[in-house]
Amino acid sequence: MLRGFGADAVPVRRERELAEIDGLVIPGGESSVMDKLSKTFGLRDALRKAIADGLPVYGTCAGLILLSTKILDGIEGQESFGGIDIDVRRNAFGSQTDSFEVDLDVPAIGDPPLHAVFIRAPVVERVGPEVSALATLNDGRVVAVEQGNLLGTSFHPEMTEDHRFHEYFLERVRANR
Ligand code: GLN
Repeated sequence: MLRGFGADAVPVRRERELAEIDGLVIPGGESSVMDKLSKTFGLRDALRKAIADGLPVYGTCAGLILLSTKILDGIEGQESFGGIDIDVRRNAFGSQTDSFEVDLDVPAIGDPPLHAVFIRAPVVERVGPEVSALATLNDGRVVAVEQGNLLGTSFHPEMTEDHRFHEYFLERVRANR
């Protein structure tokens, strides 16, 4: 999808690959496993430093959890990379079968509302003073945030044909180069 918007997209698993990129997407998946793998593969410290140094990063779902400063309902010993001053609750809506789709108003990307897919999704329970909430559910719970060059969504925009969040992120990456 990123290639479709003209980006030269490469997988990042090692520290040396991190040095070659202008922006990073941390995808959905399982945040506790990504936390462990980042330690096993020696990526964690370099990634934390890159985030602190201003690398644009977009985290979707598990990626949002990894960008948070605090994880609620993490597994024993689970850590995040930090970067966005938020508390995020894992699996906030229940298990896989409680996954759902909903249309969200997202002023930052404009009309029409975005059809959002939530899969064992997290929710943002605290938003720090430097953080902008970009989207909320009808009950007010925050599901998309931005802080500086960091963007995070509880949902998976790559699951639909509406790629405005990825375009929004790529604009940020290009502006930052
Ligand atoms: N529940 C997963 C986690 O804790 C996230 C699920 C997802 O990325 N779709 O990391």
